[in-house]
Amino acid sequence: MSTPHLHAVRGEILHFIADPASAGEAAFEHFADGLLLLRDGHVAELGPAPELLARLPAELPLTDHRGKLILPGFVDTHIHYAQTDIIASHGEQLLAWLEKYTFPAEARFADPAHARGVADFFCDELLRNGTTTALAFATVHAASVDALFEAALARRMRMITGKVLMDRHCPDFLRDTAAGGDAESKALIERWHGRDRLQYAVTPRFAATSTPEQMRLAGRLYAEHPGLYLQSHVAENQGEVAWVAGLYPEARSYLDVYDRFGQLGMRSVYAHCIWLDDTDRRRMAETGAAISFCPTSNLFLGSGLFDLGRARELGLRVGLGTDVGAGTSFSMLQTLNEAYKVLQLKGQKLSAASAFHLATLGGAHSLYLDERVGNFLPGKEADFVVLDPAATPLLARRMACAQTLDERLFVLMMLGDDRTVAATYVMGEAAWVRALTPARAA
Ligand SMILES: [Zn+2]
Repeated sequence: MSTPHLHAVRGEILHFIADPASAGEAAFEHFADGLLLLRDGHVAELGPAPELLARLPAELPLTDHRGKLILPGFVDTHIHYAQTDIIASHGEQLLAWLEKYTFPAEARFADPAHARGVADFFCDELLRNGTTTALAFATVHAASVDALFEAALARRMRMITGKVLMDRHCPDFLRDTAAGGDAESKALIERWHGRDRLQYAVTPRFAATSTPEQMRLAGRLYAEHPGLYLQSHVAENQGEVAWVAGLYPEARSYLDVYDRFGQLGMRSVYAHCIWLDDTDRRRMAETGAAISFCPTSNLFLGSGLFDLGRARELGLRVGLGTDVGAGTSFSMLQTLNEAYKVLQLKGQKLSAASAFHLATLGGAHSLYLDERVGNFLPGKEADFVVLDPAATPLLARRMACAQTLDERLFVLMMLGDDRTVAATYVMGEAAWVRALTPARAA
């Protein structure tokens, strides 16, 4: 037995212990000069720095981030790693976007070396943006899943991914079969699910690109293995909704297609959920299925405006997703910026507290990971991001005028991006640290 590795991190610290929508001010803890005590990659204690330091050994290794804001690592609940190279591709809505950009980009993942290269870049880019947990789509190629899990494992990130199931309405070079996709998924689950911080998600791309037989097998696989995730897309775009209605005329709604194949439940996560009705929303709430709200993607593809207020009223689990490559940023701060604007257009207000909750504990809750990550309660895995409120001249200037914590958080989510991330820690270790430019180092 080795002696436990203790380490402390000092700085301004904020985390959520409940949802601000229901708990208000009691939802978070804030320490202007806080100390996070870490033991073997987990949170041992959190409190005011002067108080904790007075009773901790003087030789305790300490990292000083005073002047910066420490938050739990961000949780991205919907992203496509294989679409990294098509971010910012012009001019299409969902179905044409898939044909023109997505499918050709995903075809390249038949080459494992290409997959490894993108997976490494993707994980580094998540960390550069302060994201430590992600639920990601791979491609139909089993090797694309291996590549992402290997890259995440090397960085000890919390990664959930799975092989895309797609046996119709796609180019031949990306088409699997119902039986083949099922067998490959099983082999990947065997190889990866539960290894270190990695978990597997059964991944039918969406109802239109799987045959009823593939949908049936996906639902069966998800039901057979407790603890598995299931991720897909639903009700993103009106053309897509009409297409699915034609393919599954027996279903009451698009969401009902998934329900009929046993694909709603705990750890099932559906991106977008824009064109749902209350019957759909209630069904998601009662089964424990979660929504991934992807504002940058919804605006970029012209898909529509997500109704967060209604989802909350009906008690749904909601996380935030970047949905790169249709999403336009890896930054959860920029994603919050766009979430705020989407909700303005819906006549709803997203408070800064609710926004940061959504990006941290709320996201973890939507993934049923809130016992592991999402805040700094003792025993949690010590994933956190260090934000620099003076990262750019404009941020520094605007921040100097901010009076309250709420106002400062709002400025961070509106003006912040990857430049704002000074460091990202995974399991208590620095996984990414911003290099200081000579001017800033002075
Ligand atoms: Zn997506």
